[in-house]
Formats: sequence, structure tokens, C-alpha cells
Amino acid sequence: MKSELKIAIIGGGPSGMMSAIALARKGVEVALIEKSSWPIDKVCGEGIMPSGVEILKEFGVFELIDSKFYRKFVGINYIDCLGKGKARGEFQSGTGYVVRRTALSQALYKKACEYPSISLHPFTEFINFKLDDSKITVYVRDDSSGSEQSIENFDYIIGCDGIRSRVRKIANMDSSPPSDKKRIGARAHFKMAPWSDCVDVWWNKGIECYVAPVSEEIVEFVFGWDHDVVKPQGKGKSSGLESGLFSFFPELEKKVEGVEKLSPLRSYGPLPTGSKGPIQGQVILVGDSCLFFDPITGEGLSLSFEQSKLLAENIFSLGHASGVQSYISKIVNIKTNYLRVTSLALVFTYFPWVRRVALWILSFCPSIFNHMLEVNMGRRKIWQFSRSRLLKTQ
Ligand SMILES: Cc1cc2nc3c(=O)[nH]c(=O)nc-3n(C[C@H](O)[C@H](O)[C@H](O)COP(=O)(O)OP(=O)(O)OC[C@H]3O[C@@H](n4cnc5c(N)ncnc54)[C@H](O)[C@@H]3O)c2cc1C
Repeated sequence: MKSELKIAIIGGGPSGMMSAIALARKGVEVALIEKSSWPIDKVCGEGIMPSGVEILKEFGVFELIDSKFYRKFVGINYIDCLGKGKARGEFQSGTGYVVRRTALSQALYKKACEYPSISLHPFTEFINFKLDDSKITVYVRDDSSGSEQSIENFDYIIGCDGIRSRVRKIANMDSSPPSDKKRIGARAHFKMAPWSDCVDVWWNKGIECYVAPVSEEIVEFVFGWDHDVVKPQGKGKSSGLESGLFSFFPELEKKVEGVEKLSPLRSYGPLPTGSKGPIQGQVILVGDSCLFFDPITGEGLSLSFEQSKLLAENIFSLGHASGVQSYISKIVNIKTNYLRVTSLALVFTYFPWVRRVALWILSFCPSIFNHMLEVNMGRRKIWQFSRSRLLKTQ
């Protein structure tokens, strides 16, 4: 059924595409504006938690992902390079998948093309918007001609334009990020066979490396570090940053020595961003534009999908104050959880002795780690931990 609503979505990353698909399923007409074109790559850990995979399956996107570019993972391994401690947590329900970002983008694109109510505008940069008589006009620049155009008559504008969101800035919804730490992310892919059925998180002081197996012959290495604590400097001009980052993880450095690289090292940051909230009048923020803290818990994509789904479920009630309140409280609920678990994980990065003790406890009581993974996905509350599970092994 077609609704009366017409919505502009800015940004064709995972949250923009998923929001477009979720809204189109509700009969809403969507114009999606993206400055580049699909498939879109980005610095990302590429691990999708079971909660996110479930939404991809529900919306028929998962089956469109090229199977050469994804691989199952059953949980997370924590490995401490300083204390040599190790702990393993496994998902209690569902499976996670590491999905090459471009393959995910291509699948979302294919799914979006199935809906006639979604009009895609690639190579089109969002410049500004204006609200007039409760209708929104969006101003864009066409990349090929360089000309500016306006598209009119939208009921809502949704900013899915990432951590440096222009929609958020123009709507005056910028706010201080959840942390003032200058955390940076970087990633590269190597042609090699994976050695783990988990995403492995290796720790050193102020820096982590996430090792994500993308397929039987691709492994991704993602680094997260605090620019004020760690200054990665290596030898050589172009590979300076890369060798500097690997030098914190000698075991991994040895593994990639002489191995063919499939993507160059790309960095991105500083990462944390915040907004005044997920909605203000007719402006809605979804995904990283709304809030991004840190990739350390691997939740960004799943949260974006969850937020897109919630938006579509609530879109027809956003015209009323009570509907807006109810939508905000649902979003705050999932974001609060994310903020709590991410803060906890970052303590491990900054305080090696806390990490050492925590990993020692988790290695003896893996059920606590399993429980925290469920808490991270919002599937359990932190206090919903039964003592009978405590000493259960995997
Ligand atoms: C180092 C790192 C590791 C990560 N690891 C993981 C992980 O393992 N698992 C996980 O789930 N998440 C991870 N994340 C988080 C994840 O990448 C993000 O949460 C996710 O990309 C959010 O998607 P988005 O669509 O909101 O934003 P983006 O992916 O940033 O997409 C924004 C889109 O908007 C477009 N755009 C921007 N400005 C304009 C404009 N003016 N006009 C038109 N288009 C515009 C951009 O071109 C882009 O396509 C990681 C992030 C980082 C930095």
C-alpha cells in the first residue's frame, strides 16, 4: 500500500540503504541522495553481530550478498599482548558474519532497486535543506554537471550521512561526542587463510587490532588507537603507518610478512560523534550521524539496522508528540546499552592491569563473557545473569 509520506534520505551507506528499504516496505516514497556510487567501501571492521544479521535476513538482503565475501564467526576472542592473557566469548543465539563492506553495499543496492518507490540519486552531493510551510526542499549538487538543483515536497529529511553529518550540522543538532578521546581507526585486507572461527581482538596499551576473517582467503586487520597515547611510526614512506601499527602486535606482524595485500591501509577519525537526539521536528538522524562512540564492540552496523527498522515501524506516529516520545525512548534504550558496553571495553584499552584481571576472570568463567555479548546486542539485561551459568564452560 502506498502512503502519503515522501522522505529524503541523505547518504547511501548501510543506515541510509536499510532505512530506504524498511520505509519502502511500509509504502513510503523515498529519494536517496548519495555523493558517490554503489558499491561503497569504508574503513570498517566488517563484523556483523547476530542481531544485525537477523535484520539483514528479515529484509531479504542477506541472501543477496555474494558468498565469496562473507564468513561466519561464532564469537569474540580477547588476546592481551602485554599480559599474554586470553578469553573467548561465544554467541548464545544466532551467528555473526564478517561481510566485505563492498559486498554488503552491493546487496543493499540490489534490494533497494527492487522497490519502485525508492529513487536512487548517485553522484549527488547534499548541500542544504529548507523548511517551508511544513514541506522540505533539498538542495543538491550533481557531480557530473556540477550544477545545483533542488528537490521539493518532502515530509521528512533523514540524515544517514555518517560521523561528519552535514544534515546534523545544518539542523543545529550537533552535540559533544560521548568521549573526548581522539580515537582513530584503520584497516587493510590480506590474501591469507583465516586461523580463527571468531573475530580476534588483540590488545596493547592504547591500541587494539581486530582480526576479522572475511572469507577462506581474505583476512581483514583493523586497528583502533588513541592518537594522544600511541604514535604509530614505522620505517618507509608509504607503509610507515602500517608497519608502525603492526609493530605493536609482533605475532600478527609475522603472520602478514610477505603476504599479498588486497586493499591499502586506510585510516579514519577521530571517531566519536554525538547529536542532540535522533529526531528534531522533521529532521531524523540514523546511524553514525546520530551517535558513534567506538568500533571496539563491533556494534555500529547492527545498531544502524536496528535504528532503520525502528524508524520504519514508527514513521506514521511521528506526527504526534506521543509518537515522537515513544520513538526517542526506544532509540535511547538501544544507544544507552551500546554506550555502557563500549565504555567498559575501552577501560580494557586504557588500563592494562584491569584488562589482565578481567581476562583472567573471563577465561575461567566464559559464561560471563557469553552473557556480555548478549548484553551488548540488547538481548539480555546486564543483571539477567543466572548464577547456575557462572562456571559453565562453552
Ligand atoms: C575502524 C572502524 C571499524 C569498525 N568496525 C565495525 C565492525 O566490525 N562492525 C560494525 O558493525 N561496525 C563497525 N564500524 C562502524 C560502522 O562502520 C558504522 O557504524 C557504519 O558504517 C554506519 O553506517 P552509516 O550508513 O550510518 O554511515 P556511513 O557508512 O559513514 O555512510 C554515510 C554515507 O553518506 C554519504 N554522504 C556523506 N555526506 C554526504 C553528502 N553531503 N551528500 C551525499 N552523501 C553523503 C557517504 O558517501 C556515505 O556513503 C566500524 C567503524 C570504524 C571507523
